[in-house]
Amino acid sequence: MTVAVLHPPGGRGTKRSPITEERLAGVLEDQRAAAAREGVPSAARRRADLDKLLKAVLANQVAIAEAIAADFGHRSPVETALAEVCTTVDTIRHARRHLSGWMRPRRRSVSLPFLPARARVVYQPLGVVGIISPWNYPFYLALSPLVGALAAGNRAMIKPSELVPRTAELIQSLIADTFAEDQVAVVTGGVTLGEVMAGLPFDHLLFTGSTRVGRLVMQAAAQNLTPVTLELGGKSPVIVAPGFDLERAAHSIVAGKLLNAGQTCIAPDYVLTPEGTLDALVAQIKLAVARMYPRLGDNPDYTAIINERHFARLKATIEDAVDQGAHVIEINPAGEDFSNGGPGPGLKLAPKLVIEPSDDMQVMQDEIFGPILPIRSYRLLDDAIAQVNARPRPLALYYFDNDGRRIDRTLEETVSGGVSINETLLHVAQENLPFGGVGPSGMGRYHGFDGFETFSHKKGVFLQSRLNGAALLHPPYGKLARTMLKALISR
Ligand code: NAD
Repeated sequence: MTVAVLHPPGGRGTKRSPITEERLAGVLEDQRAAAAREGVPSAARRRADLDKLLKAVLANQVAIAEAIAADFGHRSPVETALAEVCTTVDTIRHARRHLSGWMRPRRRSVSLPFLPARARVVYQPLGVVGIISPWNYPFYLALSPLVGALAAGNRAMIKPSELVPRTAELIQSLIADTFAEDQVAVVTGGVTLGEVMAGLPFDHLLFTGSTRVGRLVMQAAAQNLTPVTLELGGKSPVIVAPGFDLERAAHSIVAGKLLNAGQTCIAPDYVLTPEGTLDALVAQIKLAVARMYPRLGDNPDYTAIINERHFARLKATIEDAVDQGAHVIEINPAGEDFSNGGPGPGLKLAPKLVIEPSDDMQVMQDEIFGPILPIRSYRLLDDAIAQVNARPRPLALYYFDNDGRRIDRTLEETVSGGVSINETLLHVAQENLPFGGVGPSGMGRYHGFDGFETFSHKKGVFLQSRLNGAALLHPPYGKLARTMLKALISR
């Protein structure tokens, strides 16, 4: 495989001195100073920035796939093309196409007593946006918030995850070759650097990661009253409604669950299926896995578990379920040996179904983030909805049904970040839909126009007319003011 080489505008492979913890605050100050000096970027300038980013991503497709594969031990190159490159490119193109429309001030009406004044909402860059990103889709989740930040006219500082050092280094050099440090800076490091960064007085901080760290980030940001968008995780349920085609549901569940070997924030976490359908659904899931992954270990399409710690965590989750009496089914279509991370590169884990797990099992308590799928049966749809509602509000919910009224009811009676009906994952790929969690699965939203809004100050502007009646309500308050107020209150 050839390694794509960066072709920077100002030379090849620009190297900058690394941004240490001590330098972080200085870089932020430089970015603020540059924003003050250069003013609000025009639509043309923002489009040019997005074009530069697009060019850099397209020129580095092979390098991106290689870096992520090296970090994961093995990452399917097709998954990287689909979930990192295609998504990022789509995000950039969408922002570029709609930018002028997004930036346009929006007229708002004024109420009758204030006519003929006018009102409008204008979108203003916030300043400098901090972006802290996770390891599971390390390229897309670092760059897609950047697209929103740049589209809204901001500068940004990005900290990729320390669990993907090769990808973090690639992001750093790609950005260094594309933007001046006082426009976009990338800092690489671990928890300590993240802590320092979360404590800086950014104008907005977008954090993607675990709910546990999200709490810490919000606490740190609170010291500066820095607004946060928290893109967190959780246990995203699947409900299969009575009578739904199990083959179709199984196919979508398996595709959503095994992408990136289940290491996806919106992966189906557990399945609720009507009583009497569990065995048939399990059979369909086995068939779907065998169709999509006839082999698992030595199959370039099947991604490895990120590291030993997560591999051990997933194995411990299964051991806990087995110890507590759960029936666990391993799906291993080619009968490969997975005792030591399986054949082929990286630590591979064969998919496992945990049948009718109890609430006290780890598999029903923590976000799974791997190829393990608990399946439970329910008696009435009400019970399934009650089970979902008894848990913290999830990032995603998947509902398989053809009955429009039941779909509406489930949408109304459950609260989740987003929903895909008769499908898994694909709501995240819609640039026209807001993406974000609710409650413990997150706060705020981005993607497309919602991202532009998140990274903008939405400023309300009132434009008084030369002829107006405002003075009638100024002191000294005479009879006219009192009569007018009476009329306004009682109208
Ligand atoms: P994590 O919370 O461990 O780390 C995320 C980032 O935060 C990393 O860059 C890390 O260095 C940094 N960090 C760690 N401690 C910090 C601190 N105290 N202060 C500031 N920064 C700190 O998460 P992870 O393991 O990288 O990612 C997995 C989690 O992310 C899962 O829960 C998953 O559901 C969630 N996730 C959510 C989304 C989404 O869009 N909602 C997307 C992907 C992943």
